[in-house]
Amino acid sequence: MSTEFQGKHVTVAGLGVSGVPAAKVLHGLGARVTVVNDGADERARAQAAELEALGVTVRLGDADTLPEGTDLIVTAPGWKPTKPLFTAAAEAGVPVWGDVELAWRLRGENAAPWLAVTGTNGKTTTVRMLASILRAAGLRTAAVGNIGVSLLDAVTGEQEYDVLAVELSSYQLHWAPSLRAHSAAVLNLAPDHLDWHGSMDAYAADKGRVYEGNQVACVYNVADKATEDLVREADVEEGCRAIGFTLGAPAPSQLGVVDGILVDRAFVENRQKNAQELAEVADVNPPAPHNIANALAAAALARAYGVPAAAVRDGLRAFTPDAHRIAHVADVDGVAYVDDSKATNTHAAEASLAAYGSVVWIAGGLAKGATFDELVAGAAGRLRGVVLIGADRALIAEALARHAPEVPVVDLDRTDTGAMLQAVQEARRLARPGDTVLLAPACASMDMFANYNQRGDAFAQAVRELGA
Ligand code: ADP
Repeated sequence: MSTEFQGKHVTVAGLGVSGVPAAKVLHGLGARVTVVNDGADERARAQAAELEALGVTVRLGDADTLPEGTDLIVTAPGWKPTKPLFTAAAEAGVPVWGDVELAWRLRGENAAPWLAVTGTNGKTTTVRMLASILRAAGLRTAAVGNIGVSLLDAVTGEQEYDVLAVELSSYQLHWAPSLRAHSAAVLNLAPDHLDWHGSMDAYAADKGRVYEGNQVACVYNVADKATEDLVREADVEEGCRAIGFTLGAPAPSQLGVVDGILVDRAFVENRQKNAQELAEVADVNPPAPHNIANALAAAALARAYGVPAAAVRDGLRAFTPDAHRIAHVADVDGVAYVDDSKATNTHAAEASLAAYGSVVWIAGGLAKGATFDELVAGAAGRLRGVVLIGADRALIAEALARHAPEVPVVDLDRTDTGAMLQAVQEARRLARPGDTVLLAPACASMDMFANYNQRGDAFAQAVRELGA
């Protein structure tokens, strides 16, 4: 067991998903732990009582001042770098780690290597596909990060792993300076969370940290030059390769698609001449273009780890997507109803809309500062009609008026949860047989729903009522 933390004064910034387990683990390692938290609501008080019973000090309602004698801060990843606590830490020369850095430092000897995935969209799907492929290869693995097992549990728990499939957000990467993955992928880069990072450059730089120190492969998206630029800027281990993935035919050192087959032209003998067949496009569930890209990225990481081609195919076949991610709900009167409630930003909705020929699009919610012109202009030719819901629907209506004036738009002026039933009824009215009614809101859900899950459930329920 690590003695590094014995007697150290560690300040854990933020109770909650990562803070409470971090405080417990550090306390167990002999650190003198103080947790600081902005809020002091009922939940925080209950968590504080639990930690105090163990001997952890908790300060509720003031997370701005640095506790006396702090040697190290372990922060919740979502905390903004501009917070006064971090300014004070910088002045005092106190290092700040996030949950990922802590997990990385706590790995035991002979710890399982990490195959890491980041990007604006597709992380969860790709990491789960990757874990499925690794499992099909007979490896002991888990999808960890924001999903399934927490990173801290994965590195400190009883369960032993051969290799981990790790999802990393830009926030987590910001606070993980010494992370060194076996191999890593950046799936795509579109403006997101810019208020947190301060600028697109800072956001990209934090994403790019995932490549730092990679040993075997830096996997990038051929269609998204920014991801390749990040590979070029990264400082990697000698011999580490840049591996591209593309929906087109692959060049040497790439994975891609030829005649409906996913092929590897990177991890094969004589890649100038040879390619290895991995799986069929039809093995990817669902076979939407962006999801095939996710499958190729997962396959690239698995192949970098030495997984045989047959396991890529078996793992992709065994994979089932998470709820609310392009989930086919039902066909009613020859119209498909698809729930992509997880499309909470314009980049995700763009990918989602591109997967269908003729769409009745249900969109709207909280725009989070986004603009919709590019999205609407790109999708205009595929829109049979649009039904708008939610607080910021006028922004989408205006973009539609500018770029798709001939497309019929139903603007629902209500934000109660029952609005979804009406939205689905309106969509049915607009749809023709062969169309897809697609819930891909391009917005967050919190104006009308608790979260995107509830929004997707309301959609599915409304569709079932249509069919009844
Ligand atoms: P994340 O974990 O990054 O949020 P998910 O796998 O949960 O990603 O997918 C979120 C949404 O992003 C999906 O519902 C889909 O609309 C969209 N999406 C998934 N993969 C991609 C991709 N490779 N490119 C663009 N959009 C994507």
